[in-house]
Amino acid sequence: MIEKLLIAGNEIKPATSSVLQLELPPLYTNTPLTMPVHVIRGKYDGPRLFVSAAIHGDELNGIEIVRRLIKKVSVKRLAGTLIAVPAVNIYGMLQHSRYLPDRRDLNRCFPGSLRGSLAGRLAYLFMNEIVSKCTYGIDLHTAALNRNNLPQIRADLSDEKITELANAFGVPVIVNSKLRDGSLREAARVENVQVLVYEAGEAMRFSESGIKAGLTGILNVMRHVNMLPPLTKNSFIKSIPYVAQSSSWMRAPVSGIFRTKTRLGKEIKKDQVIGFIEDVCDYHNQEEVIASDDGIIIGQSDIPLVYEGDPLFHVAYFKNVKKVVQSLDDFDSEQTT
Ligand SMILES: [Zn+2]
Repeated sequence: MIEKLLIAGNEIKPATSSVLQLELPPLYTNTPLTMPVHVIRGKYDGPRLFVSAAIHGDELNGIEIVRRLIKKVSVKRLAGTLIAVPAVNIYGMLQHSRYLPDRRDLNRCFPGSLRGSLAGRLAYLFMNEIVSKCTYGIDLHTAALNRNNLPQIRADLSDEKITELANAFGVPVIVNSKLRDGSLREAARVENVQVLVYEAGEAMRFSESGIKAGLTGILNVMRHVNMLPPLTKNSFIKSIPYVAQSSSWMRAPVSGIFRTKTRLGKEIKKDQVIGFIEDVCDYHNQEEVIASDDGIIIGQSDIPLVYEGDPLFHVAYFKNVKKVVQSLDDFDSEQTT
């Protein structure tokens, strides 16, 4: 007996592929606005996976990942249902902005409410029509504006099933990250939906390697939960993921012009000079940026103008840094070949 699936009043029948338009509050120009939702339901029953992008409206890699994913997954080969949403925060996307027009961060407004703020209403719609109807979810992000992230999975590894999915995704770095108040991950946990966050690249840009790795990762997870048939033997060797139990931002010790001496994916050692901040009025006066611990750069600021206290490098801490670096180098060459 195949379970009935209704999204926004539309019945999704087995062996169908459709695009739904979820009605949103219109723009103040009275222009109607909808959230496009791609639903591919296989012939056979199976898990339901949602893939969401642009919860932060200026994070575009996920939009392209969803586009490629939809072209790749066919009804014939699919067990279960894939629900893919290329732009959850359509309002932010229209304005090239991370936020909603009410200046709220959607990822701090979950689970939302029917009579709440604009962000709260959008969160409520997404939770009730998509997330709560799914078994698993993958939420796609990039770094914030003027920052760049190494492809990485963020997940709460205290949950066994989430750990399994995080490993199946197949990027070299997993950051064990606690649930944040008001985040999609936290609201999904309450609904017993297991969610991974994939981070790669920067806001307002496409990163080809981050897009490729994201698409491959989603397909890996879909194979792992038997939504797609396994690949033929030896056709793809997944990298072994390494888990960082913690990470922290290194901040600018002074204000000035920042020059980096390292880059994403590189190992840093305690007391190593990893950048300089120069005084714009006195080029002989430069302050060293010194690593406070051993680790790997998983995120960095791309903007050379810094105030004291601005974040410069996001550093993750691993038990075996050397092995992670090797794995990242191998992964890098896989992505570029
Ligand atoms: Zn984001």
